[in-house]
Amino acid sequence: MRYHRKWAAALTSAALVTLGTSTVTAAPAAPGPGVLVAGYAPAETADDLTEQKFLEQNEVLEGAAAHANALIGLPQDVPVMALSCGEINAFWDPESQGIGYCYELVGYYRGVFDQLNTTGTDAQRNRATEDDLIGISNSVVFHELAHALIDIYDLPATGREEDAADQLATLLLAGDTVHQEYAVSAIEAWGALAGAAEQGDIDEQLPDEHSLDAQRYYNAICWLYGSDPSSFQGAVQTEANPDGPLPASRAERCPEEFQKIDEAWSTLLQPYLKG
Ligand SMILES: [Zn+2]
Repeated sequence: MRYHRKWAAALTSAALVTLGTSTVTAAPAAPGPGVLVAGYAPAETADDLTEQKFLEQNEVLEGAAAHANALIGLPQDVPVMALSCGEINAFWDPESQGIGYCYELVGYYRGVFDQLNTTGTDAQRNRATEDDLIGISNSVVFHELAHALIDIYDLPATGREEDAADQLATLLLAGDTVHQEYAVSAIEAWGALAGAAEQGDIDEQLPDEHSLDAQRYYNAICWLYGSDPSSFQGAVQTEANPDGPLPASRAERCPEEFQKIDEAWSTLLQPYLKG
């Protein structure tokens, strides 16, 4: 347990996510035989090489791919490739039909988590940061997988596709305690970035197609809390728990928000779900 995650201190249960277990009423198309296939392109800088070794040694992309592959079928194999990009980014590339995860983004998040993990020995802090990096890497891969699914299966996304992608990522992370921990890491990073963005220029942030980091932060906490209120009670701000990050007025609606997200994605993906 890490000190900066007080609101998620005691993960003991997991959500009843219906994704993959929805009752099928019509004969579905068989999920395709394709899977996510993890790969690591040779790093082009020394910093990137640090992140390549970290990701490879911990089989980070293999783990994310296996989790998604157990649930969702694809019509063809889709590479999830870590690579040097020359910029901080992750993306679905419709041309090559592949997901890219830039070593530069991993390095960027490493800096964010190093600022959060400030207690313990150097080795303990480094381990905490690497655990967080594994967590947020899963979140990033599942977000990009949502863009891939929307493109490949021509899924209708109402509202912002970026929000729909964050929602699928939450769903894929909400079903067991290991992945709930991953979701917490991503949320902590967005919280830190939102704090930093407050100092920045809002006019530069508003044109971006993603919701603001602060909105992604509150949405993700809300949905994770909504998926499993008993485990995440500490997230809700109350008189007894003034440090809870989620205002009680929002928290009240979160179980329903999560349920709607679960139903929407489960319905959209039903023909392509395994098991
Ligand atoms: Zn996106």
